[in-house]
Amino acid sequence: MPFVVDLADVSDSDLPLVGGKAGKLGEMIRQGLPVPPGFVVTTEAYQTFLDATILKEEIPGALATLDLERPESVDAVSRRIRDAFESTEFPDGLRATLEAAFAEYVARHDVRFSAVRSSATAEDLEGASFAGLQETYLNVKGSDEVLQAIRKCWGSLFTPRVLVYRAKKGFDHLSVRLAVLIQKMVDSVVSGILFTRDPNTGENHMIIEAGWGLGEAIVGGEVTPDHYVVDGATQRVVLKQISDQSFRLVRVEEGGNRKEDVPPEDRERQKLSDERIQRLASLARVIESHYRRPMDIEWCADLKSLYIVQARPVTTIPPGKSMIGAANPPGPARSTASTPSPDISHEVPIVRGFGASPGIAGGTARLLVGSKDMERLQAGEILVTTMTTPDMVPAMTKAAGIVTDEGGMTCHAAIVSRELGVPCIVGTRSATKLIADGDLVTVDGKTGSVYRGLARAKAHAAPAAPAGGTAAPEAGHHSSPVTATKIYVNVGVPEKAEEYARLPVQGVGLLRIEFIFTAHVREHPLALIKAGRGPELVDRLADGLATVCQAFYPRPVIIRTSDFKTNEYRGMPGGESYEPEEENPMIGWRGCSRYISPVYRPAFLLELEAIHRIRTDQGLKNAHVMLPFVRNTWELEQIAEMLKEKGLKRSRDFQLYLMAEVPSTVLLAREFSKHCDGFSIGSNDLTQLVLGADRDSETLGRMGYFDERDPAVLKAIEMLIEGAHAEGRTVGICGQGPSVYPEFAEFLVRKGIDSISLNADTVVPTIRTIASLEQRLKLDGVRRARD
Ligand code: PEP
Ligand code: MG
Repeated sequence: MPFVVDLADVSDSDLPLVGGKAGKLGEMIRQGLPVPPGFVVTTEAYQTFLDATILKEEIPGALATLDLERPESVDAVSRRIRDAFESTEFPDGLRATLEAAFAEYVARHDVRFSAVRSSATAEDLEGASFAGLQETYLNVKGSDEVLQAIRKCWGSLFTPRVLVYRAKKGFDHLSVRLAVLIQKMVDSVVSGILFTRDPNTGENHMIIEAGWGLGEAIVGGEVTPDHYVVDGATQRVVLKQISDQSFRLVRVEEGGNRKEDVPPEDRERQKLSDERIQRLASLARVIESHYRRPMDIEWCADLKSLYIVQARPVTTIPPGKSMIGAANPPGPARSTASTPSPDISHEVPIVRGFGASPGIAGGTARLLVGSKDMERLQAGEILVTTMTTPDMVPAMTKAAGIVTDEGGMTCHAAIVSRELGVPCIVGTRSATKLIADGDLVTVDGKTGSVYRGLARAKAHAAPAAPAGGTAAPEAGHHSSPVTATKIYVNVGVPEKAEEYARLPVQGVGLLRIEFIFTAHVREHPLALIKAGRGPELVDRLADGLATVCQAFYPRPVIIRTSDFKTNEYRGMPGGESYEPEEENPMIGWRGCSRYISPVYRPAFLLELEAIHRIRTDQGLKNAHVMLPFVRNTWELEQIAEMLKEKGLKRSRDFQLYLMAEVPSTVLLAREFSKHCDGFSIGSNDLTQLVLGADRDSETLGRMGYFDERDPAVLKAIEMLIEGAHAEGRTVGICGQGPSVYPEFAEFLVRKGIDSISLNADTVVPTIRTIASLEQRLKLDGVRRARD
């Protein structure tokens, strides 16, 4: 078995010798595809290095001391083995062979810089993908550095992550072998990825992402790339989303990379020319038809040429759609004009964003510039706008679907539409540019895609949306299991209360009072007070609140007092005089800080008056209060006084809850417990503040920063539950997290959360998930006790 082989001479069948990555690239060279030249240091070389050096004793010796339960032990063993790899000399014969191969390759291909890339072998791939776990070194210059990088790649078979992973998968640490690919570095001006089919849906169109500079920043998600879609049937580019790229990764002469600013004139320029998009797509088609399956490709380009640097099968496509020809066979060109189309599952979306509220709805697109314009929207139309504001809620209530340019999964449009049951897509970046007023469009709020034309309702499995609302939540009182964790529902507008009250829930975990303001009051509270219309404000608020409390009576309804943000409420009639322009409204004058300010205090007292009135005059003792965006305990002391002033004192009959959103409430959970009956986690804000990731930023959302499942957020939740329970306080949750991620709901149950308040559409499925988890936990407990 050779120690080295030319990349052009290998194929998929050489996998045990050269690994998967090199095998595929060799195969592509044989297909005539442009792949940077190189050679492979085989697994035979690896084995010889191991057998002929002190590593033969060193590795088993180190592994004998490995204690997987102790991270310090894993780290120490890993360091010891990798140091040994890096400091052990190659046996003479092997060094000479590698040096000769390197010299020949440099001369033949005029190489200055190389990429030294791990290429994992067949044993690694079966049933346990080590993809991305081994290291790669870029821009390596000179023979000695390349030889050192080879030993580092080999050593990366023993990083702590890989050691633990291999042990969990039951692989023998010493039977795994690694090949290393040495390849000429391309001086990339632009690079990116390509999926030959949509990896989420299997639809027949290619997705290309492209960004300036080296590919690492793009693959790693640091840079938001351009996004192009090429129709699989017509081969036309049907979508181009051009991003604003502020920095790129470039090579430095001495070796390695650095970040640099993208020149202003290039930032928003299309990264890959139309001609190159077509060329890249045709290369991808060759790869896909060779492998006869959807492929995930990494590519790059210098000033002259395009290159393929990696290709692997896409593994995420839904069953039945993965084999070429099995679904969406290439057919005649399909029209993307504004004509009714029979089945959107075969169409290419005009634009995509985050699916924020599920359901499908079709109708006439109405482009609204802001709330001033909203009278133009007729019931059953699709509202398309840059971003919704609270004063647009009346239009949102009438809309059959909503599409915005901006926003992430917890932005205003996302929350409101979900509570209204209207399909919604946020963060498309360009819907207002690509959709014209009057176009017929179909919105799929589950996948986040907007299509031209009207789709037939049966096109997707999701229920079709009647105008003004989607999938009515499944009632199913009788069939739903009972859970120990209390399940509540979030209610938006009072108009939905009757319908949601039929759900198998124990009450309302979150009634945002802002919704009553926007749907019933419709004017800024301070403007009303100034006009001497305070009593009218109380009447209207009390009406809205009573509708919900009556519908759910005697089940508790937790009314959250207002959490206006200045940017959202400036647009309300009369709002401009009271809402300052803030740099960071998400961490600005909101929540409790308003109540204790002399400016807003009178309005807060009227909110409390409305609550007090429905409790006393109408006997709706199921109304309780929750305070949002609590930052410290001294503000709570002042607010408790105000509650008392309005006849709302904590008792068995009247509970006061705090939202846990600012990390201070988590860090000092025991202190805050003294001021309330319980907490409700606002996971939207808590995630934002623990991770420092603006919840409204579609850029961070796309890059995966805003994620309730992040370990730091989970840790915060665990700490809160511990602290609050130690003081005998309950902990619930009312943010979007458990409605979006069932595994997040599972985590909460495992950690002993007392209640979960969900969006109406997820109540029934989540109850089932929780019931079966509780059952499992109970059984585990029984088994543990028995053993
Ligand atoms: C939250 O922050 O999770 C929450 C429920 O409140 P809002 O989304 O209204 O800020
Ligand atoms: Mg919040």
